[in-house]
Amino acid sequence: MKNSQELNPTIYLIVPCYNEEEIINLSVESLDSKIQNLINNKIINKQSKIVFVNDGSKDKTLEILKALKKENIIIINLSRNCGHQNALLAGLEYAIDKCDLAISLDCDLQDDINAIDSMVERFKDGYEVVYGVRDDRSSDSFFKRFSAQSFYDLMHFLGVKIVKNHADYRALSNRAIKSLLTFREVNLFLRGIIPLLGYKSCHIFYKRNARVAGSSKYPFLKMLSFALDGITSFSVQPLRILSILGAIISLASLFFGIWALVVYFMGGTISGWTSVVVPMYFLGGVQILGLGILGEYIGKIYKESKSRPRYFIDSIID
Ligand code: UDP
Ligand code: MG
Repeated sequence: MKNSQELNPTIYLIVPCYNEEEIINLSVESLDSKIQNLINNKIINKQSKIVFVNDGSKDKTLEILKALKKENIIIINLSRNCGHQNALLAGLEYAIDKCDLAISLDCDLQDDINAIDSMVERFKDGYEVVYGVRDDRSSDSFFKRFSAQSFYDLMHFLGVKIVKNHADYRALSNRAIKSLLTFREVNLFLRGIIPLLGYKSCHIFYKRNARVAGSSKYPFLKMLSFALDGITSFSVQPLRILSILGAIISLASLFFGIWALVVYFMGGTISGWTSVVVPMYFLGGVQILGLGILGEYIGKIYKESKSRPRYFIDSIID
């Protein structure tokens, strides 16, 4: 076990923010007092810092951050909006070798910041990956709860190992960050990658609050596209299901054909068009669905093959 894991480690909080002017001041105050408190109690090192990654905000988020007069705050300003996952990656890449433990959390304070204490404690116990897991979704709408549950069930069914009710609130040791950065994929779905690292990990539970200000930056369509990315980045099972579906339909058509022949030889006449039209529409639908699923994967291959950079840093304000 490393010494830093037993003594007081340097921790970096990685906080992506996109158009968060309504809440950024409160966020800075709360996180800063949390860090100061941990430093004063000699739980963490005084080199510990908060890294705000401004993900191309179009509002006053960056101006507000720049105007702060706080020593332990670093601002990474991305050149444009690169997305939450890439913003997190930018923060982690910056933190590498500067800290013993990096904790990623959202800027809107929905994740209970008091869980940071337990994360540090677990790290000192020797855990290198600590997942923050929500044990209560009562602050979510019925729709968000239902869609999240369906997503986890589907991922489980497809054989993808992700931690249920864990978003991106987690602590990673320096070694875990280094390993994470060896994954070069452009379609980034961090909560699918982290379990693949395999270091000693544990869960801590917390209650997720409702947003106190500002609005969600994940509207329905963005959430759906994120879920689709998650599925198609980690499982080829939908392609297999497609093949099985194709096989079942072909088999059923064969029996249907035999039945039609039998009816023909028995002198029955085919009077209705139902038996023609229904399979036609059905098969048409299945074919389009199949093409769509194939297209999703081909699109992924296309994006990965170009291996474009995942973000650009415009400036770092230390
Ligand atoms: N975020 C980001 N870039 C984006 C969208 C979101 O950095 O393109 C940040 C956002 O500022 C917040 C976090 O990601 O700190 C999570 O977003 P949000 O709270 O809107 O998602 P929700 O909690 O509603 O799922
Ligand atoms: Mg949020």
